[in-house]
Amino acid sequence: MTARRSPWMDDDLNDLRDLARTFCEKEIRPHIETFIADKHVDRDLWNRAGAVGLLCLSIPEEYGGGGGTFAHEAILIEEQARVGDSSWGASLHNGIVAHYLLAYGTEDQKQQWLPKMASGEVVGAIAMTEPGTGSDLQNIKTKAIRQGEEYVVSGSKTFITNGSQADLVLTVAKTDPDDKAAGISLMLVPTAAEGFSRGRVLEKIGMKGQDTSELFFDNVRVPATSLLGHTEGQGFIQLMEQLPQERLLVAVSNVAAMELCLTETLRYVRDRSAFGRPIWGFQNTKFKMAEVATEARVARAFVDECIELHLDGELDIPTAAMAKLWCSERAQRVADACLQLHGGYGYMNEYPIARAWADLRVSQIYAGSSEIMKEIISRSL
Ligand SMILES: Cc1cc2nc3c(=O)[nH]c(=O)nc-3n(C[C@H](O)[C@H](O)[C@H](O)COP(=O)(O)OP(=O)(O)OC[C@H]3O[C@@H](n4cnc5c(N)ncnc54)[C@H](O)[C@@H]3O)c2cc1C
Repeated sequence: MTARRSPWMDDDLNDLRDLARTFCEKEIRPHIETFIADKHVDRDLWNRAGAVGLLCLSIPEEYGGGGGTFAHEAILIEEQARVGDSSWGASLHNGIVAHYLLAYGTEDQKQQWLPKMASGEVVGAIAMTEPGTGSDLQNIKTKAIRQGEEYVVSGSKTFITNGSQADLVLTVAKTDPDDKAAGISLMLVPTAAEGFSRGRVLEKIGMKGQDTSELFFDNVRVPATSLLGHTEGQGFIQLMEQLPQERLLVAVSNVAAMELCLTETLRYVRDRSAFGRPIWGFQNTKFKMAEVATEARVARAFVDECIELHLDGELDIPTAAMAKLWCSERAQRVADACLQLHGGYGYMNEYPIARAWADLRVSQIYAGSSEIMKEIISRSL
């Protein structure tokens, strides 16, 4: 039913899928409960993924990456979703942090960080959101003020994925606090720097194995070469340019989650009986599953189109916003319908559908909320 091969797939990607599937089955699936209990993945998971070549798949080989494309990143996300994992923040490390470095970093910055990110020696995070502001990024208060050959970074961030394990935090800060967008720059802040500290791993309703954390910068001194790229004030433009990829990553994971919900629920309703017949035997179940299958198929078609556009360098900001808006909201509807068909078991955390339902909720909020997506789309009309 969803067996149609995505048009961007090829034999090389099929081989990668086999590798990613084996890795997720062996290194992730058996440990999901532990990740959730610990509120983070094993630090070693990053190194193991690096050792088999699953980190920085779309970063050129000269920087230690896999030399692939966004399609390679999509495969890993799909395979991670297939085992029902939301703990490992690999897509943020691979598809976001590494790509800021690749796109805007100086040659020295790329050489310094990318090979270590590809091996798993360094885990990356990106810190935009602050306790006082999320959607309104221009209003951030974190500062990075140049003093001689250093920047002094001060402020706090919250909701940061990979926050407890990150070795490098790509930090959005004001190099000119009197300016709005034009005052924003991105800073490469190693978490070993003096004055940097982490708050608690936050308690969430879903994605419980992901180490979403608060971060604090108490006059952290970093060399002037920690400014991403060569020029101050480019941060907002850099963010705007990279956010379509971030939003497409979310949409890819949402479609994969819908497909998982479909598979899990078909299995469940065929096994479970009520009133002397399988739940599948009720017309309501068949109709709901027909809707779910259609939602998943339509979302898959749109995401496949967006992936192809992105591979051709033609995915524009409004289209990426549409993909994120549509897929995140439809995935939630799908998960909700599937949970209902599980009855009380759907409310139990040990069932993948319960986890998917809670995990998916944040997709309408992070990487730009649904409301912000609608703002972006409407401006293009
Ligand atoms: C699990 C998780 C992981 C995260 N990971 C990261 C990360 O790694 N790095 C990072 O920097 N951030 C991260 N975030 C933060 C996330 O990106 C923000 O929560 C998000 O951008 C929304 O910001 P906010 O929470 O401040 O909400 P607000 O901006 O305060 O918004 C509150 C509500 O107002 C609405 N709203 C705001 N502005 C408008 C408008 N102009 N028009 C209409 N409605 C509007 C919003 O849509 C929302 O419904 C993460 C969040 C979560 C929950």
